[in-house]
Amino acid sequence: MKILISACLLGEDVRYNGTNSSLLYSPSFTFSEKELFMDILSENEIYSFCPEVSGGLPIPRIPSEITKIEKPFKVENEEKEDVTINFLIGAKNALELCKNEDIKVALLKSKSPSCGNTEIYDGTFTKTLINGQGLTAKLLMENDIKVFNENQLNDLKTFLNTDN
Ligand code: SF4
Repeated sequence: MKILISACLLGEDVRYNGTNSSLLYSPSFTFSEKELFMDILSENEIYSFCPEVSGGLPIPRIPSEITKIEKPFKVENEEKEDVTINFLIGAKNALELCKNEDIKVALLKSKSPSCGNTEIYDGTFTKTLINGQGLTAKLLMENDIKVFNENQLNDLKTFLNTDN
């Protein structure tokens, strides 16, 4: 099955600070979780994607948070610059890729203002989490694309097994 995956989870240095969130090298994941991730990668067709880079933001970049979570959304970086358009373009590009390639499931990085599927930071830059979605995760979910994060690998595996 085709899966859209956050590029940073695959080890690409696309995060705001020029690093990655490689699941395979992270000490936060057990060996069996890494094995499961490897299985998912090898058994499926992977599309690596970073919405923020696709939306025109540089690496490195100033970190951003969603400061208005209802439409019209507002995303600002820590220096109060409005980067909403970059986040919207990144989300649109992700959806376009999914539609063009018939991708029906995504594994996206948790807590990101683009990729987070259950929680995001609250826009105060105080590391405070609230329930909500990043703009890419939200747009994909609104278009019936199933979105999981890196802490939901078992759920993703179950989904892949039942839909294959
Ligand atoms: S936008 Fe998504 S893919 Fe890109 S660095 Fe942030 S969490 Fe990773």
